[in-house]
Amino acid sequence: MSVLFPASGPEALAMLADAPGAVPMAGGTDLLVHWPVRVAEHDRTYLDLSGAREWQPLRWSDDALVLGPLTTYWDVIRDPRAGREFPLLVAAARQVGAVQIQARGTWAGNIVNASPAADGVPALMAYDAVVVLESRGATEEVPLDVFYLGYKQMRRLPDQLVTAIRVPRAARDVQLFEKVGSRRAQAIAKVGLAVTRGPAGWRVVAASVAPTVRRCPALEQLLDTGTRVAAPDDLLPAIDRDVTPIDDLRSTAAYRRAVMARVLYHGLRGQVDAVR
Ligand SMILES: Cc1cc2nc3c(=O)[nH]c(=O)nc-3n(C[C@H](O)[C@H](O)[C@H](O)COP(=O)(O)OP(=O)(O)OC[C@H]3O[C@@H](n4cnc5c(N)ncnc54)[C@H](O)[C@@H]3O)c2cc1C
Repeated sequence: MSVLFPASGPEALAMLADAPGAVPMAGGTDLLVHWPVRVAEHDRTYLDLSGAREWQPLRWSDDALVLGPLTTYWDVIRDPRAGREFPLLVAAARQVGAVQIQARGTWAGNIVNASPAADGVPALMAYDAVVVLESRGATEEVPLDVFYLGYKQMRRLPDQLVTAIRVPRAARDVQLFEKVGSRRAQAIAKVGLAVTRGPAGWRVVAASVAPTVRRCPALEQLLDTGTRVAAPDDLLPAIDRDVTPIDDLRSTAAYRRAVMARVLYHGLRGQVDAVR
């Protein structure tokens, strides 16, 4: 195993350009969990980003919250303004693993790990987050809702690092995050939902019910048009167009479909006129 230790962001980008097969490492909470069993991974070159301290803080601009490549869940939890303006980020962060993982795991790592059951990604996607990708000398911005191409496939080239995640500030009058798991901590989602209503309309984002975390356009349209929803089952036709849940060791497709309808219905009931 060989590890590169850049001391700054620009140095990290330069090192990656010279070693494009190197694996970026932020908190290491996803990468190292398989370490004992994936022996082939031991022979790779890793790019340890932790020395680029300027990449840890989150910052606020007039129009966005900007998360750095090393911003952790805990950095967001402890920012009082994040709790006021982006409550779904805090709600999601509080449900990632337990406090040790929240203190080490990063939002960028959550995005690039590309788990369909991720908790950070749905909250970011419901806020129209944009992924900033940089390589030596070039920058590209990709909206998170089009970042994934399929299971563990994404619009990131081997010489690119996520150098920021921009979360646009906007007035949103409905904000809902729900994670259904076996217990409150240290559980992988059986179904995850992040929902917002903002100036551009509804965002309904689902996790653990498709090969990637994804927006649900049929549900968004149903809500945008104010169609009356009188019971959870009224949501099922749209759910069936939007997601493709499977049976796996954590749950069944039938359970996921039924629970998604119920969580969404009960989460919106009382907040939205059309859902009664
Ligand atoms: C016990 C345990 C519980 C967990 N519970 C949850 C949970 O409840 N919910 C959840 O969503 N996740 C959970 N996770 C998964 C993990 O903690 C998160 O996905 C975390 O956000 C990963 O961040 P990291 O910084 O540790 O990523 P790393 O492990 O460092 O990296 C993850 C991936 O991202 C890539 N990467 C990292 N940073 C960059 C960058 N800047 N640019 C390009 N590529 C990059 C790496 O190469 C790797 O492919 C858990 C993990 C463990 C071990």
